[in-house]
Amino acid sequence: MEPILTIVVPCYNEEEVLPETLTVLIDKLDELIEGRLISNQSNILLVDDGSKDQTWSIIYKESLQNKKVHGIKLARNVGHQSALLAGLITAKDSSDCVVSIDADLQDDVDVINDFILKYNEGFDIVYGVRDKRDTDQLFKKTTAEAFYKVMQKLGVNLIYNHADYRLMSKRAVEELEKFEEVNLFLRGIVPLIGFPSTSVYYDRKERFAGDTKYPLKKMISFAFEGITSFSVTPIRFVLLLGMLSFFTSLLFGSYFVTLKFIGETETGWTSLITSIWLIGGLQLIAIGLIGEYIGKIYKESKRRPRYSIDINTLGLTKQLIKRN
Ligand code: UDP
Ligand code: MG
Repeated sequence: MEPILTIVVPCYNEEEVLPETLTVLIDKLDELIEGRLISNQSNILLVDDGSKDQTWSIIYKESLQNKKVHGIKLARNVGHQSALLAGLITAKDSSDCVVSIDADLQDDVDVINDFILKYNEGFDIVYGVRDKRDTDQLFKKTTAEAFYKVMQKLGVNLIYNHADYRLMSKRAVEELEKFEEVNLFLRGIVPLIGFPSTSVYYDRKERFAGDTKYPLKKMISFAFEGITSFSVTPIRFVLLLGMLSFFTSLLFGSYFVTLKFIGETETGWTSLITSIWLIGGLQLIAIGLIGEYIGKIYKESKRRPRYSIDINTLGLTKQLIKRN
């Protein structure tokens, strides 16, 4: 049996691109159905993320005309990541696998064929990875690359140059649902699911119409979210700084005290400078220590699942049969 696929598209003020995007995606879906790669019950789910333009009316009209097109309208703008999650969770009930793609078609839709092939081989997650970033502006390219590097240094497991163009099986989306954190950073969470995954490479194109919905402000907050949602390294840094300051104070303190006994300093200076360093150091250590505990609370409060079962021989899954 061919899998039922849902293509999930988050849309925020995308009236300029949507008509063309819909044509391309519907053609793709038809092609895949005709090629018997996917079931004829496959469909497209558009998520209107609280747009202020004609986005929803375009989606709604299309859904009346074409029964393969569905839409959900979010009550307000919740941002790309949460809009995408809403789409994935809605879609998984009626499909075997979902592909998420941006509304601006910067990602090559032909790659969906490869996604499906990989899914049929038994992979639960297939990442679309950008081969080159030639079409991105220099600024976007350098900041994005720096972001992936910093994240990797901080110990966050990210797929390099993978955005949110990916296929996920139904059970992978179900696992994703168990991550209950409000601050969503899908690129960091999806690899944590740990199910069999692989990558497919493609060239990223330019946005064919409309402006990016990720202006600098959103980009910075996205990067900050990513870092602070996945790493306590910044807190550890405070502790380290405190220790450094504390030991420096011990070193300099003994040096200044020696100077005092030789009689080469102003009155009061030695005690002043030594206590500044000492107390400063102690304070930073204290803040850092509190930070460690807050870090623990922060991890607990996410209530992430502690494990995901991949194979359970008590109930043989399709995946198991395919892979072994
Ligand atoms: N998007 C969204 N909500 C937002 C911002 C963006 O649903 O608040 C959608 C947008 O419509 C697009 C995708 O997220 O489908 C990626 O946005 P964009 O292409 O503008 O980002 P870029 O490619 O410039 O990083
Ligand atoms: Mg884009």
